[in-house]
Amino acid sequence: ETTSVHDTVVQGTAQDAADSRQSACLQGYFEDPFASQFVRRPTRRSPVVNRGTYCRFIGLHSILRKFLATCRDQGQASQIVSLGAGSDTTFFLLYHLGLAPTRFFEVDFPEVTSRKCLKIHQKKALRNCLDQDTVQVGKNGTELYSPSYTLLAGDLRCFPTELGPQLLAQGLDPSVPTLFLSECVLIYMDSPHADAIIRWAATHMLSTFFLTYEQIQPEDAFGQMMISNLRQRGLELRGITAYPDLASQAQRYRDLGWEHSQALSIKEIYHALPKNEIDRINRLEMLDELEEFDLLGDHYCITWAFKTADTNLRQSWQH
Ligand code: SAM
Repeated sequence: ETTSVHDTVVQGTAQDAADSRQSACLQGYFEDPFASQFVRRPTRRSPVVNRGTYCRFIGLHSILRKFLATCRDQGQASQIVSLGAGSDTTFFLLYHLGLAPTRFFEVDFPEVTSRKCLKIHQKKALRNCLDQDTVQVGKNGTELYSPSYTLLAGDLRCFPTELGPQLLAQGLDPSVPTLFLSECVLIYMDSPHADAIIRWAATHMLSTFFLTYEQIQPEDAFGQMMISNLRQRGLELRGITAYPDLASQAQRYRDLGWEHSQALSIKEIYHALPKNEIDRINRLEMLDELEEFDLLGDHYCITWAFKTADTNLRQSWQH
């Protein structure tokens, strides 16, 4: 029973992520014309949180787009699988930019996918990103199938036995380079469940890439505060003790069958931005305490890993 209460709270975090994305977009941090589609009433987040959302977006998208560009440069098809996709707009944004992969799959709990199916049905801007003649809805409106975009319902804790085979049945091609995206998702599961997904991706796909964004550093004062704030809302960061820092995050993928892996904190991503971009961001909103942002940025990380027998892909993914 406690598991299902936690599941319900976890499902609600999809809306938080959508609200934060919209907040950062409204302040001018980055552009996502689809961010507003998943938000009822705009919420304004603090400058520190907006900056964090921006770094998360920039970090993930630069890696994602690099993956897509390397596949395209080599005349190869590509696939993205978004795990716990929530109200994420990545597919729509990539389509809008003319950068969509050959196939884009999303999975989440049925309670979340049914809302997304409905949104796609209701909103013209979203619908227009799909070839509408080919769209089919299934499983009581919790799943959507189309040649470019597929939304599947299920529990990620049953990935190896259920969702994985379902993805393959829906056309996920093990011979096509595939990026798995998990943004604030794996951390809510007990790590053996999350590890099983990471291992499945390494063993079932020929050329594969994994991109994860999640919380780290549970031990210090800020980490303790982050954990207790979430706990008050009924949320547990179940994976954080097994992979609490950048080194263990990167090591995780190597232990689970990946060739190469690397992890960067949001703070490191921020400080690596070009000077003109930092200047632009500083003009968007007043931020008195850069130390406060650095503290937050120390507690979130982006980890990526890949595995491929294709020497050309390996060379371009290494850079
Ligand atoms: N990745 C999206 C984004 O960044 O906008 C959503 C992130 S939200 C914080 C976490 C999502 O993971 C929720 O939509 C939740 O339902 C999903 N999720 C967590 N555990 C899951 C599980 N065991 N099975 C399916 N989905 C899960």
